[in-house]
Amino acid sequence: MRRIAILGATGSVGRSTLDLIARDREAYQVVALTANSDTDGLAELAREFRPERAVIGDPAGYEKLKDLLAGTNVGVSAGREAVIEAAGAGADWTMAAIVGCAGLAPVMRALEGGGVVALANKESLVSAGDLMTDAARESGATLLPVDSEHNAVFQCLHGARPEDVSRIILTASGGPFRTWSLDAMRAATPEQAVAHPNWSMGAKISVDSATLMNKGLELIEAYHLFPVEADQLGAIVHPQSAVHALVEYRDGSVLAQLGPADMRVPIAHTLAWPVRMATPCERLDLVALGRLDFEAPDPERFPALPLAQEALCKGGAAPAILSAANEIAVASFLAREIGFLDIAALVGEVLASYDPPAPATIGDVLAVDAEARRVAALVTGKYRL
Ligand code: NAD
Ligand code: MG
Repeated sequence: MRRIAILGATGSVGRSTLDLIARDREAYQVVALTANSDTDGLAELAREFRPERAVIGDPAGYEKLKDLLAGTNVGVSAGREAVIEAAGAGADWTMAAIVGCAGLAPVMRALEGGGVVALANKESLVSAGDLMTDAARESGATLLPVDSEHNAVFQCLHGARPEDVSRIILTASGGPFRTWSLDAMRAATPEQAVAHPNWSMGAKISVDSATLMNKGLELIEAYHLFPVEADQLGAIVHPQSAVHALVEYRDGSVLAQLGPADMRVPIAHTLAWPVRMATPCERLDLVALGRLDFEAPDPERFPALPLAQEALCKGGAAPAILSAANEIAVASFLAREIGFLDIAALVGEVLASYDPPAPATIGDVLAVDAEARRVAALVTGKYRL
């Protein structure tokens, strides 16, 4: 039986993971579930999966969670430290599905534990990629990519020698505004931005998909996960979301991974790894789909992508600043404080105005993250609607 911890259990990826686990209770024992503030959701999941502990990040939820789980033998704790502790409680397999840089300290603790870490929390890898891959190397932890594109690359690289790989291409659906004019995008609402044409996801990543910042974060993610340089990484728009990524080899062969737009496919790949498991997902029907289209991303309407590519090439603290400023900008957009196009403008402004040395420790990364958020919050005033 595999001992499972799920960090960010109440979110879109967390729930998809539990959906798969529920189908094979014999194979998995859930030992820890964490959430930020959704006490009801966490309690419901804890009643169903009976982990050893349920942790709510927001201490205000402690009493309520305790009441909701009274009469069960699920241990209850609360607070940031308790989430980190749960990440280090000795699971064999951890799903890192907290959104944002808030996931960094927990994922580091899970990596130090040396088990398998299935990584969905891309922002942590973007901000602290070198430190995370170093931690995995030191402890012997296995880092498996959950993000659908990176999971696809991982599959296409199976058995490859690094020196034979010439390019890695990630696909992007193009999001809900793929065909919109700049003027229409200027007036886009949070509801329109989170209505992703192909994938059902949390609010933050849905907005990132609409700006294409998501693809930019994913290029940085890929840089840390795979043995390539920044100039070997590219992104193309593919509206059908059937091809998730392509790997080109030096002999001209290109391997692609295809599948339905259902996160349970890559999650299942990491859950059963190194073997495969059955999933209830719809099968990809290429005849019904009829065609696969590809186009170049438009840097004019989607400036977040070139911004992220610049941050990747610059390295050092730039990716952490990009990601932190983007978190603030997306939250402000979702709160209707700034417009859709202001997201990339704000991130660009923070990147241009704050240039600290490269972070050498997790403490440094968190300090850069905090300062970038502070600068972003200041700059937000200028864009306020
Ligand atoms: P979500 O918003 O649906 O869920 C986020 C989870 O993190 C929730 O359980 C929430 O309680 C928890 N959380 C949020 N803030 C926290 C904090 N400060 N401390 C502790 N816990 C906190 O997000 P999601 O869509 O499931 O995405 C999770 C991560 O996976 C993100 O980094 C996202 O980019 C990545 N990802 C998601 C998808 C997808 O299809 N949803 C695909 C690829 C990658
Ligand atoms: Mg993705």
